Amino acid sequence: NCPFQAIEQMSQIDEVSARLKDPNTVVVFAPAPAVRVALAEEFGGKTGELTVGRMYNAFKKLGNNVKIYDINLAADQTIWEEGMEFICKVLYHVVGLKKWEIDEEMAKALGIEPVTINLEWCEHHPLPHFTSCCPGWIRWMELYAPAVRPHVSGTKSPQQIFGPSAKTWAALDVWKVDPRKVYNVTVMPCTSKIFEASRPEFKSAYEYLKENGKIPEDTPPFPDVDAVLTTRDMAELLRRNGINPLEMPEKIENPEPTEIYTGGGTIFGTSGGVTEAALRMAYFVLSGEEPPKWDIYPVRGYTTGIREAVIPIPVKLLGGKTFDLQVCVVNGNRNHLPQIVKEVLDGSSKYHWIEVMNCPGGCVDGGGQPVNGMGTGWIDGLFPIPKEVGNSI
Ligand code: SF4
Repeated sequence: NCPFQAIEQMSQIDEVSARLKDPNTVVVFAPAPAVRVALAEEFGGKTGELTVGRMYNAFKKLGNNVKIYDINLAADQTIWEEGMEFICKVLYHVVGLKKWEIDEEMAKALGIEPVTINLEWCEHHPLPHFTSCCPGWIRWMELYAPAVRPHVSGTKSPQQIFGPSAKTWAALDVWKVDPRKVYNVTVMPCTSKIFEASRPEFKSAYEYLKENGKIPEDTPPFPDVDAVLTTRDMAELLRRNGINPLEMPEKIENPEPTEIYTGGGTIFGTSGGVTEAALRMAYFVLSGEEPPKWDIYPVRGYTTGIREAVIPIPVKLLGGKTFDLQVCVVNGNRNHLPQIVKEVLDGSSKYHWIEVMNCPGGCVDGGGQPVNGMGTGWIDGLFPIPKEVGNSI
């Protein structure tokens, strides 16, 4: 009866180990944001101890053909896509635009060419906007609240953005290897990511490569993500190979483009992080200015249940008139989600943006993390909140 088919989920450590021994396979490890603040604990380190370089170097020691593609970078890619999606919805439903001309100045700031975006698609995608990066929430929505689907972001999760990016852009342009040799292994705090990776719709690298003649016609289909290891699985794989990340150097030698990311991607690892990253982008694009502060404390924190915030944004296309963006952050689905969904469906919801993370505290407390710690320690490592601010408004 488990919605994630947990009974079919087996650890993939043995399969990954076999691939590491195959000289014709390039094994790509993709660690999620929350893994780097939990892995140390498996080796006797402190709860919340941050290991980025040590983690990369430990993974690379597993084989000669190992590459890293940090999921933090994929989270940055997610925010580009989901942030733009949300901004389009605000411009259509709040500002009343049918087309959005991204002028030269904004295009330059975003690093793109000036473009006009047709916003008519937003007619079928109303506000409030629900996030889509947590497969636990997505499966809950599919089973218990499918009517809310038009409100849910069409952007894939960082794991599923990583998969095709690694087998197309990174394989072809960064590592210069045959994409058929790339074996993608995500390292996740999450057991439902195993289910997400196995969904049959996630074969977009295969489809793209085939359509564009980058792989032979008769190549059998392959998934975007080949294997998912939890943080505990990864620790076990390292132990089996006699590798202790805490004994590795912290310095990353010659980082590749797949190992570089921003703080916006890093904070995806905890409840409120996706929202904060998206709000930074929405503020910048809608107002044409940097926000007064990049830290948006009211959406951060460990509080189970919901957190709310109102973010005033002076909208350039409204002549600087302020739009009060109403934000809601939900974690631990059983607490408030049914009521929030009910209000969205009956039209009484006051929110424009709703982030949902299935686990209390978000991914730092996911089902694949070490079992000894409590999320507050991990959150301090990943996502500090000044004492005077507290963890909720
Ligand atoms: Fe997975 Fe939990 Fe994070 Fe959702 S909140 S992606 S279920 S670890």
